[in-house]
Amino acid sequence: MGRWTASSAPGDGIGVTGIDESVASPWLETPDQVATRLATDLEHGLGESDATRRLQRHGRNELLAAERPTPARLLARQFVNTMVLILAVAGVVTYLVGDRTDSVVIAVIVVLNAVAGFVQEYRAERAMDELTELTSDAAVVVRAGTARDVPATELVPGDVVRLVAGDVVPADVRLVHTAGLRVAEAALTGESEPVDKSVHALVADAGFVGDRENMAYKGTAIVDGRGEAVVVATGMATELGSIAAMLTSGRITTPLQRRLASLGHRLAIVAIGLCVVVFTAGVARGEPASTMLVTAVSLAVAAIPEGLPAVVTVALALGARRMARQRALIRRLPAVETLGAVTVICTDKTGTLTQNRMAVERVWTASAIHGIEGDGYSPSGRVTVDGGADRPPDPDLATAGRIAAACNDAAIHETDDGWVAVGDPTEGALLTMAHRVGSTGVVPARVAEIPFDPGRRRMATVHDGPDGTFWIAVKGALDALVPLLAGDAPVDEVVAAGDALAADGYRVLALAERTIAGVPADLADVERDLRLVALVGISDPLRPGVAGAVATCGAAGVATVMITGDHPRTAGAIGRRLGLVTSDAAVMTGQEVDELDDDALTERVEDVRVFARSSPAQKLRIVDAWRRRGAVVAMTGDGVNDAPALQRADIGIAMGRSGTGVSREAADMVLADDNFVTIVSAVHEGRRIFDNLRRFVRYLLTTNSSEVWVMLAGPFLGLPLPLTAAQILWINLVTDGLPAVALGLEPAEPDTMRRPPRSPRTSILSGGLWQQSVVVGLLMAGIVLPLELFAEARDWPWRTMGFTTLALLQLGNALSVRSETRSLRAVGLRSNPVLVLAVIASMVAQLATVYVPFLQEAFDTEPLTALHLAVVIPLSTVTFFAVEGDKVRRRRARERAATGSGGQVAERPSFQ
Ligand code: ATP
Repeated sequence: MGRWTASSAPGDGIGVTGIDESVASPWLETPDQVATRLATDLEHGLGESDATRRLQRHGRNELLAAERPTPARLLARQFVNTMVLILAVAGVVTYLVGDRTDSVVIAVIVVLNAVAGFVQEYRAERAMDELTELTSDAAVVVRAGTARDVPATELVPGDVVRLVAGDVVPADVRLVHTAGLRVAEAALTGESEPVDKSVHALVADAGFVGDRENMAYKGTAIVDGRGEAVVVATGMATELGSIAAMLTSGRITTPLQRRLASLGHRLAIVAIGLCVVVFTAGVARGEPASTMLVTAVSLAVAAIPEGLPAVVTVALALGARRMARQRALIRRLPAVETLGAVTVICTDKTGTLTQNRMAVERVWTASAIHGIEGDGYSPSGRVTVDGGADRPPDPDLATAGRIAAACNDAAIHETDDGWVAVGDPTEGALLTMAHRVGSTGVVPARVAEIPFDPGRRRMATVHDGPDGTFWIAVKGALDALVPLLAGDAPVDEVVAAGDALAADGYRVLALAERTIAGVPADLADVERDLRLVALVGISDPLRPGVAGAVATCGAAGVATVMITGDHPRTAGAIGRRLGLVTSDAAVMTGQEVDELDDDALTERVEDVRVFARSSPAQKLRIVDAWRRRGAVVAMTGDGVNDAPALQRADIGIAMGRSGTGVSREAADMVLADDNFVTIVSAVHEGRRIFDNLRRFVRYLLTTNSSEVWVMLAGPFLGLPLPLTAAQILWINLVTDGLPAVALGLEPAEPDTMRRPPRSPRTSILSGGLWQQSVVVGLLMAGIVLPLELFAEARDWPWRTMGFTTLALLQLGNALSVRSETRSLRAVGLRSNPVLVLAVIASMVAQLATVYVPFLQEAFDTEPLTALHLAVVIPLSTVTFFAVEGDKVRRRRARERAATGSGGQVAERPSFQ
């Protein structure tokens, strides 16, 4: 997006004009002035009732999509369809030439069709809305003096919000406190460099959003630091809101929707061509032109799968809803379809594969190894020491506790569910350890800090020390601290101790300290000449079920790759437990990744299942390398820096609980429970949805082609009008309606996760699907037309018999397309009761057209006798048995090929 210049102040936006709680140019005023104008309190925030009142007045803090069709418009859209319009014209013509019943029936069916289309689209819209709601973020707001999480959509002008690195700014805000706050405003200004923010009032306004350094705007990302701010505009009144119309015009279409839409167009052209043939042939054989016109157009309406893209949307949106119930929230619809094709899942370790319930279990000091025991984050526990309790107390253990408590931003407190850690779980564990070794009472005041950063892998804090000195507490990865230790440190001994802890699967953190006389001008200089006090071994148990999920992926041809910031030995130990690697040699470090150029990395990447000590930049290279190999990559991430890799991956997956807002914004899917197992269920669901779409398309093509064949071949066999226009439309309505929708509910086949992923390049029609559909359609016509000829010769109600047979053949087909390989017996009727009900309902409706007097008139039918039925019913099952038989034949052929007994089996062309 190019540079964007503000044309109006936020306060002037929609919904705020003329209301008291607005500030025209908050950047020109001091925070207190802004607060007064907004009638809010910077310390305590708004009161609850005030916030509710303001929410009613200003509306929800959301960007309304530019075009959100109303139900009425949605319904109207169903009729504004070229073919339906042509049909309407044809209907009027029929009416005028006198065939009143036919035109009324056509009108009714067209309306029913439109209603069915409307219901589908409405469901899709609703499901999409639900998804948007599910994936919206929370903001930390101070209300009535307490800070708490509130859905970002409920923010109102006057709210006091807290912002930290990783957040997406939830509304337009005037900053009131900042600490190293830097904001990436590319979303609004196109400026890629983050901007430093401050709280001072500007003296003049150049009118450019990017220059207002005391403001933070909705949709921009906090990359560093913290801040507190007061909301000045929400929803469409924000700067982003004023350009939202540009951003949200039209929903994203998925590749599958686009492919099917183009398939629909091609089929439409073929169908129209064929209808011209039907019309000409009919007229040539002496049928009235008006009848043939309505018939041909009805056939076109029936044969053109104009609803195909809508059906795909419904299938994807409903699939996304099911995934949401399984805790995988889809942010972008195409993800649902890509999930089924995923070949590689690159996952973080901490929190995704492990529980992120950290506990310090070991503390190594130069003189002893201590064991720390206790329950979760509870401060009470027991300290053991090798060599027995008689040893003199270890002063380093007490210092380790002090460092752990001082260089720490987490808190632990007791809730109804026991003790919990607020903040980083690693720090929660360290604080718990500090309590257990009895060192928390003596934490001196913090005067400065260098926050934790995954790239540096360490954190340092500066505290007041005795006699005007300063005490430095540092914690971080051992390899990140070793270069900072004082010259006389016993590095070899320490590294060996760290390796030993890591080999046991512990996450290892080193704790170090130093005392200095004064704080240097460059704060980074405090991290020198450190004394290493202790190493802690933190356990983080695997989540239940992850090892099984990794194995499931293996069977499904999906590679699992762990990418972690942790030490190679810790990563290797966990990789072994998960069955990803068998030795540490298979672990590649971030440094080794950097040593390879892109080609070499692409070459090697397939053999590596565990990447350790990796940075977000390396994650990005790993994704690229896999993608160059043609893989479809799902990648998890939680930090601000993970956003590029999440965007680059085919499926970016963010963490709902521990992840940052920025990573969630960049992701296609959010895991509500941060759990790897959820990704695997989503892949499973993605595959099921794709299979169901294939079933649906197969069913639709078969139905449509059978009608076309019947109408096309009829005149040449001496049956100018094998089916009437109303009958064609009826079959289309009944079969496309209920059974087709019920096919979308088909449960996954048992081998869904035992077969390799489909290639994203193969079309939904691959594997001979369309040829098979056309052949099955031909077979149906090959049953119906001879039947009609046979019946006509006997003076039976031949057209009614043909009509009924064709309709029932479709229903049999609905049952057999349920599986491409398994017979209906194996699939069972109970696994999709809705489909069975739909088939029964359609059957009853079909019989009604034959036996209910007024419908007889409408559909031009005559009642069938037992004799007629005795012919119709067996014939109606022919394609069902043919397709089922073909499945058996193909399965046997495969089994013979597998056992080798049958030698080479040449696959004959088949129905399936
Ligand atoms: P993953 O990348 O799988 O989530 P991770 O949590 O180990 O794994 P990072 O959070 O990037 O990855 O941490 C990298 C390293 O930084 C850790 O192995 C640890 O040594 C160190 N570290 C983690 N958290 C802190 C912290 N709060 N303070 C200091 N050092 C930390």
